[in-house]
Amino acid sequence: MIIYPICSSSKGNCTCVCNENTALLIDAGFGIRNLYKYLSNANFSNKNIKAIFVTHEHTDHISGLCSIVKNLCIPIFASKGTINYLLDKNKICPESELYEITPHKPIYIDDFEINAFSTPHDSAESLGFCIQNNNKKFSICTDIGHVTSIIKEKLIDSNFILLESNYDYNLLQISPYPNHLKRRIISKLGHLSNDDAAKLIEYLIHNGVNRFLLGHLSQINNAPDLALQTVISYLIDKKLKINKDYLLNVAPVRNKNSILYEV
Ligand SMILES: [Zn+2]
Ligand SMILES: [Zn+2]
Repeated sequence: MIIYPICSSSKGNCTCVCNENTALLIDAGFGIRNLYKYLSNANFSNKNIKAIFVTHEHTDHISGLCSIVKNLCIPIFASKGTINYLLDKNKICPESELYEITPHKPIYIDDFEINAFSTPHDSAESLGFCIQNNNKKFSICTDIGHVTSIIKEKLIDSNFILLESNYDYNLLQISPYPNHLKRRIISKLGHLSNDDAAKLIEYLIHNGVNRFLLGHLSQINNAPDLALQTVISYLIDKKLKINKDYLLNVAPVRNKNSILYEV
C-alpha cells in the first residue's frame, strides 16, 4: 500500500491511498486541476481512483469535492451527518453517488477494507479512517479536539498513521487570530496541539505503533520543524528515540516532490 499525502494543512487536505490497481482519496481540499497535476507528478493514474472518503464538511476538506467527483465519476463515502450537511448547503452535485459510512461497519472496495471511527470536532459528524490492504493498516486522524478512548483503540495496530499536529500552544497565543477562534482551536472540539500529538504518539509507541506522519499543521500557528522538535523532545524525556523506537515525518503543505510512503 502506498500513501501519498497530496496536501495537508489548515488550508487544504487530500490524501491518496493506493496499491497497483486501486486508489482511494481521503478528503478533497484541493481542486481537480491541482489533483490531476499532483497525481501525474507521482505517475498515478486517475483511472484507478475508485472512491473518495470525506472526514467532514469543513472547507479545507471539501473545497474541491464537487469538481473531483464530477470529473472522476466516483462515489462519495461520508457519515450521515456530513452527507446531510453537504446536501443542505449544495456543496455536492445532486447527481453524486453517495454512501453513508458508520463506525463499526466496514466498507470493502477491491482489496481495501475501510473502517471509520468518530472524532471529536465542531462539525456535523466527523470521522477518521483506518484503511487496510494486504495485512497492513494505515490510519488517518485529523481535526480532533482531544484524544478519545475510541481514537486510541482504533489507531493501535496501525503500520502508519497520519496524525494531526495542528498548533503550537505558545504560537497560537501570540497569533493574529481573534480570541473566539483561538478558543475554538484549543477547545475539546477543535484541533490537536503538538503537545497532545506527542502524548498520543507516546501511548501508541508503547502499544506497538512505530511510524507516524504529522499533518494538518496550521501555517500561522505552527511550523514543521517546531512540530517535529516538540514531539521528538517530549519523547526523549520518555526515553524514546527517533529512528530507533519510532519513525516520524511531517506531511508537506503541498507535496511538490511527490513524497510517497510505502506501508
Ligand atoms: Zn475541521
Ligand atoms: Zn481541517
